[in-house]
Amino acid sequence: MPSTSRNSYSIRRLCLCFLALILTPCSLLSSSAQSFGPGNPAWTTPIAPFKIADNLYYVGSKDLASYLVVTPAGDILINSSLESSPALIEKSIAQLGFRYSDVKILLISHAHFDHDAGSAAIIRSTHAKYMVMDADVPVVESGGAKDFAYPNDHYPPAKVDRVLHDGDEVRLGNTILVAHKTPGHTRGCTTWTTHVNIGGKPQNVVIVGSWNVNEGFRLVDRPGHPASYPGIAADYQHTFAVLMGLPCDVFLGAHGLYFDMLAKLQRMKSGAGENVWIDPAGYKAAVAEREQAYLTELKRQQNTAR
Ligand SMILES: [Zn+2]
Repeated sequence: MPSTSRNSYSIRRLCLCFLALILTPCSLLSSSAQSFGPGNPAWTTPIAPFKIADNLYYVGSKDLASYLVVTPAGDILINSSLESSPALIEKSIAQLGFRYSDVKILLISHAHFDHDAGSAAIIRSTHAKYMVMDADVPVVESGGAKDFAYPNDHYPPAKVDRVLHDGDEVRLGNTILVAHKTPGHTRGCTTWTTHVNIGGKPQNVVIVGSWNVNEGFRLVDRPGHPASYPGIAADYQHTFAVLMGLPCDVFLGAHGLYFDMLAKLQRMKSGAGENVWIDPAGYKAAVAEREQAYLTELKRQQNTAR
């Protein structure tokens, strides 16, 4: 693949992530994209891992979120991130005092390279079972080749051990994670929910898979330009209804930017403690804002199609 292709691909992907920003101006898109090259620096910049709740930890980079769920029967890792990320994730797990080899299950937010390209390496090292939402399985097993938007951009394929369906539970030890299919961004985009305790009180956790319409996604059919995939607009509509209906106390997502992670982390370190992750109002506002952005883009495309 020519490097120009990789570069434009990277810029598109960068947009996908920065479109998630609730508070970041769009002007950041172009300036960040220009300095992107092989990767957004925030995707590869390490940050110290930290505890979110009793058995839930952040082991990702400054923006690419990976989560470790610790149970007596072994651990669950959510998001393998970039092809280069496993070393950072392994180091973060060790820094917390846990063992990389205890990762028994690997999950992802969705089948894009910034969340799943490291899977093959992590599975090779840990022998974790890979569990992926049905409609994302062909994409991860083809190393991205079967993605509807970016079929020419490849990463190491990884074999899926368990195909998940909407509402399936992933259980390990005393922990249950529920896979909610929230398609549109990818066909099998997955929002994870679970329960944790913070300060001795039970909390509903939501880890948003993605809610963004990437540059170049076609939501409507036009003559000679069919939608990115049949039913994509209905999928987004369904996704926003699902997200709006999920009970959420602890608001998390596939990128730190989704839930204003760095600002909350700062407050946590300044003495607010783990309560900073409890943000039901922020969650509702973010879902509403992203839905509005989707509807605006849908309207724009519908008007263009006329
Ligand atoms: Zn994505």
